[in-house]
Amino acid sequence: MTYQVHIIGGGLAGSEAAWQLARRGVSVRLSEMRGGGGETPAHQTDGLAELVCSNSFRSDDDEKNAVGLLHHEMRRLDSLIMRAGEVARVPAGSAMAVDRDLFSAEVQKALEEHPNVEIVREQVDSLPEGGMCIVATGPLTAASLAQSIVKATGEDRLAFFDAIAPIVHRDSIDMDVAWFQSRWNKGDGKDYINCPMTKEQYLAFHQGVLDAEKGDFREWEADTPYFEGCMPIEVMAERGVDTLRFGPMKPVGLDNPRDATEEFPQGRWPHAVVQLRQDNKLGTLWNMVGFQTKMKYGAQVELFRTIPGLEKAEFARLGGMHRNTFINSPQLLDRQLRLRTAPHIRFAGQVTGCEGYVESTAVGLLAGMMTACELAGGEWTSPPPTSAMGALLSHITGDAEAESYQPMNVNFGLFPPLHEVKKKSRQEAYTTRGKTDFGDWLAGLEAIPA
Ligand SMILES: Cc1cc2nc3c(=O)[nH]c(=O)nc-3n(C[C@H](O)[C@H](O)[C@H](O)COP(=O)(O)OP(=O)(O)OC[C@H]3O[C@@H](n4cnc5c(N)ncnc54)[C@H](O)[C@@H]3O)c2cc1C
Repeated sequence: MTYQVHIIGGGLAGSEAAWQLARRGVSVRLSEMRGGGGETPAHQTDGLAELVCSNSFRSDDDEKNAVGLLHHEMRRLDSLIMRAGEVARVPAGSAMAVDRDLFSAEVQKALEEHPNVEIVREQVDSLPEGGMCIVATGPLTAASLAQSIVKATGEDRLAFFDAIAPIVHRDSIDMDVAWFQSRWNKGDGKDYINCPMTKEQYLAFHQGVLDAEKGDFREWEADTPYFEGCMPIEVMAERGVDTLRFGPMKPVGLDNPRDATEEFPQGRWPHAVVQLRQDNKLGTLWNMVGFQTKMKYGAQVELFRTIPGLEKAEFARLGGMHRNTFINSPQLLDRQLRLRTAPHIRFAGQVTGCEGYVESTAVGLLAGMMTACELAGGEWTSPPPTSAMGALLSHITGDAEAESYQPMNVNFGLFPPLHEVKKKSRQEAYTTRGKTDFGDWLAGLEAIPA
């Protein structure tokens, strides 16, 4: 099949970009190395849009949360990832979580069935010299292509760590100790399993984390900084005895029914809590929320089985940490995600230095739309900076400090500030303004077919 656009990488961003082009009548070659001899340290299947760690797209609250607003905007643009996410959705309070296998299968099916998409299982080792191309090879870009990118950009690539949280078989959790509840009873109130800890248990656990044997860092990984939102528990534990209790082990809003008294019939908050969130549609697998770690596997099993309720835990997957490759986008890309020195090449997804499943998808979606617009000879207008997509795009393509550029989740700090609005109502004000401005942008977008 002859094609108009070559997309390299069939992850979240590449799949979304392919969909956005195909539905606008553009023919696409989607090259994915998994299934064609290539692999990454984190992917476990050959499926397109595989989720490599958590099964959550985070908050789905589009009235108070920036990533929830991004969900809203992507749905308005007929995002394939959001569509498949709805089909594969599992309960997760106010968050959007999915059955990862079903989700990946839905994305793959939609692209396989589309007449404008040809999926080719092949590793691409160098940047194409001509033709329109989108590079969406993610944080685990194959080394050969990374070398080619370094050669083309003249920039050295940067690296830091992301982390994988352990997954536990549901039937190995002791529900006489643990209980179902979402923090503050949000969602349907029962989307998380909670394992409580007394002060003594917590202190012993904290010491156990400090003492546990950790994996070695390779030479080239040694001095790389952690991304704050994905910090391993041992790094948090080193920061102070209560850091974990104010982070992933926060007990607030969680009433242990086994501590119910006449005065507190609903129960009391424990000293600390380990939360588990459903990881597959069947409800058989649950992941330990925020428990990414570089502890050795044996040490993880030993220590995590001291957690009340997890004494007999069987682990479907243990925690791990991996490298993350991304380019200095503010320096290298123009406002349309094109490489300044080779504008036939766009970058999309996490390799641009955005962070997260949803953000990577959003940047893939934009890359697809921009490419379709260019092919149609239209004049592209970016979404307004008051919208989540606009704010994210502006950050990546120039608003971030190039000198200290590091991956970033979408957040209201990237939006033009609303100082005049009282702090208490600011989140709603951001989303209200964002939705209106995004709607206006969408209505005025004539350059490309809807
Ligand atoms: C270990 C780890 C854990 C993470 N955990 C989370 C998390 O829990 N939540 C979250 O929101 N984000 C997480 N992230 C960050 C990020 O959101 C995901 O990596 C996300 O999948 C990025 O989407 P992407 O499309 O940019 O890249 P990917 O989804 O990784 O897709 C890139 C694709 O390109 C392919 N590829 C690479 N090189 C080549 C080549 N040369 N030729 C052909 N194909 C190639 C890969 O096989 C892959 O399928 C994590 C990242 C890592 C590395």
